[in-house]
Amino acid sequence: MAQPQSGQITVDLAAIASNVEILRRCSQSAAFMAVVKGNAYGHGLLEVSRTVLDAGADWLGTAQLAEAVALRQAGITAPILAWLYLASSNSGAIRSALEHDIDVSVGSLEQLDGVAAIARELGVRAQIHLELDSGLSRGGARADEWEQLVAAAAAAGQAAGPGGIGVRGLWTHLAWADVPAHPGNAAAVAGYERAVEQARAAGLDPQLRHVASSANVLARPEYHFDMVRVGLAMYGLAPADHLDPADFGLRPALSVRAPLVMVKKVPAGTGVSYEHQAITHETRYLGLIPLGYADGIPKGISGRGLVTVAGQRVRVIGKVCMDQFMVDLGPDPRGIRPGEMAELFGDPAGGGASADEWGEAIGSHGDEIINRIAPRLPRTFLNPVASA
Ligand SMILES: *Cc1c(COP(=O)(O)O)cnc(C)c1O
Repeated sequence: MAQPQSGQITVDLAAIASNVEILRRCSQSAAFMAVVKGNAYGHGLLEVSRTVLDAGADWLGTAQLAEAVALRQAGITAPILAWLYLASSNSGAIRSALEHDIDVSVGSLEQLDGVAAIARELGVRAQIHLELDSGLSRGGARADEWEQLVAAAAAAGQAAGPGGIGVRGLWTHLAWADVPAHPGNAAAVAGYERAVEQARAAGLDPQLRHVASSANVLARPEYHFDMVRVGLAMYGLAPADHLDPADFGLRPALSVRAPLVMVKKVPAGTGVSYEHQAITHETRYLGLIPLGYADGIPKGISGRGLVTVAGQRVRVIGKVCMDQFMVDLGPDPRGIRPGEMAELFGDPAGGGASADEWGEAIGSHGDEIINRIAPRLPRTFLNPVASA
């Protein structure tokens, strides 16, 4: 086989399928929405979506309407919810979503009016999920706007004529979603339950109440309600600081490797990379890795022992450049030659770093690392489901 010239991203879809099966058991009788926003957390929208549906997910969720429409255009017929769009009655994006039978979130009167107008025009019944802002201050209606919103949604649902509104869901996303034990969650969920009662009092009878994302799927069964929305854990990433995916049998699916394109010996006192922020104290061997910040490698990993070469962790040395960075192979090259594959991150069960460890090194989390990594590199998918 030809030696790889550049970075290699591999996504093992079998890991995602197995994670879905584990998480579905954790979510008990609740319906399972697989969150595939952000190009499926950087893993590949269509491949991941087909895999999770095959593994038993009931719903798909995206932020952007365009990603939801792309799923329909690829032939996916499962229910889809999308929750981020500009409310304006002439919005082509809303029209396209409704034409493609995508449920949309509604968190304001403007959004309700925009969606209802387009639904009437198209003669379709738009299925909406009303969103409560329970404290994140992101999307959704605040508690003091909620009664008006549910009343308007109930009225829109009863309007005569072709097209209209059906309220399928009531949902919220928790400000402390990634900190299950935080008391802010209990207060937000209590507010959500009051909002559900208000909606019922207004005459709505939504089938799907949904609140929990990954961390609360694992830690708080009482927040599961009728459906859970799962991202991080499904990709084998840590959903909270104290929840190790491996403790639940969850495995990361995405790994990044790259060949060393050069191995060079440098004497003591050699400055490495721009501004010589690193200087060797003895004779060292340096390995050159053909990935840089243009590929999403964060500059903040300099000096960290995150890369694995020939079974050993090695440190990143000197500043990360646009297309390349160096690792310190030590005073003895151990027979390492150009073409040797370096693992940047993957399944930590093998001793290498996880995306979460990279995230921690720069004060972030694994999902930010994976979303930023190598948008220009192709992904190789292992174990895809047979496409329909
Ligand atoms: C991203 C997101 C999720 C999934 O959260 P994870 O912590 O990745 O499981 C669920 N709901 C909403 C609204 C989201 O934006």
